[in-house]
Amino acid sequence: GFNCGIVGLPNVGKSTLFNALTATAAAQAANYPFCTIEPNTGRVAVPDPRLDALVKIGKSQKTVPTSLEFVDIAGLVRGASRGEGLGNQFLANIREVDAIIHVLRCFEDEDITHVEGSVDPLRDAEIIETELMLADLESLEKRLPGLQKRAKNRDAEALAQIALAEPLIEALKEGRPARTAIPEGQEEAVKRLNLMTSKPVLYVCNVEEDSASTGNEFSEKVLAKAASEGAAAVIVSAAIEAEVSQLADDERREFLDGLGLKDSGLDRVIAAGYALLGLRTYFTVGPKEARAWTITAGTKAPQAAAVIHNDFERGFIACETISYNDYVQCNGEAGAKEAGRLRIEGRDYVVQDGDVLLFRFNV
Ligand code: GDP
Repeated sequence: GFNCGIVGLPNVGKSTLFNALTATAAAQAANYPFCTIEPNTGRVAVPDPRLDALVKIGKSQKTVPTSLEFVDIAGLVRGASRGEGLGNQFLANIREVDAIIHVLRCFEDEDITHVEGSVDPLRDAEIIETELMLADLESLEKRLPGLQKRAKNRDAEALAQIALAEPLIEALKEGRPARTAIPEGQEEAVKRLNLMTSKPVLYVCNVEEDSASTGNEFSEKVLAKAASEGAAAVIVSAAIEAEVSQLADDERREFLDGLGLKDSGLDRVIAAGYALLGLRTYFTVGPKEARAWTITAGTKAPQAAAVIHNDFERGFIACETISYNDYVQCNGEAGAKEAGRLRIEGRDYVVQDGDVLLFRFNV
């Protein structure tokens, strides 16, 4: 599975957000196989209204949404890259996640201490990002002497690694995260370096209750920063989300309407996290369940089948494919077939977001 690590300074609302995210999942645990994996790790259902349409048309007994994992990474403070506040341990946790959700405090509350003494999300973002950049720089520079030694003996692999590391080191030295300096086509190679600032980042502006629908002067600044970096950002009130997470579905709508909110902030965080990771969803619909499955963009049919079961990939023959829109417009599989909207796709087919698939395979 894919996961997002929640990072930020102490007292910005990380745990409140994490608990709200996983409380929602826990509320659904009766129906869905999601659970808190470890105290700081939770698997969360990815809300998808398309699944509600499919379960009705397919007359399935239940829906099974796909899921995303969140990890609450506490304890990052100024100096973490030098080991302050158990920094090394927390940095190791961040290296393992696929994407970073960076929570920024955008609410004022005199009762809640700010470790830096005032509310200033841009400064806070810079503190965290600096620690991550310093740690990345150190880890790259540590590798260099060994690589250079091997390069002297014309070791091709070492030469390639040096060529990969150099622009990243240069960017980090100039105070730019590694994600701004990934050479074209080298995304996978950079991933294997296990840097933190090469991971995609989503800024979450945690605002006070009153500003949940509008944002405030602090979140405004964060949105501008995100836009300038081509990064994603969402505005939530973790305090509201904590309340929302305790409500049943029907009460939730009413509560959100009362606050002038179109959707829950949690849903927006989950959707943004999913997009951040470049994930796509396909569906299977049967009498037992209508189910969503996660793939990365560009995945071909046999590898998409492997998400369900490895045997499906090994024995892959073809997949019956109906786009989501066709499935809905034709009122299901039989109608789609009649209308000529059911395609038989082979092993080179790139599965599209929303495809309703039925795999044919040899056992
Ligand atoms: P963490 O250290 O980043 O995990 O922060 P917590 O989630 O533990 O929150 C720290 C304190 O801030 C707690 O007392 C929360 O109740 C409070 N808090 C979190 N979000 C909000 C918010 O949106 N508004 C207000 N007023 N307090 C909040």
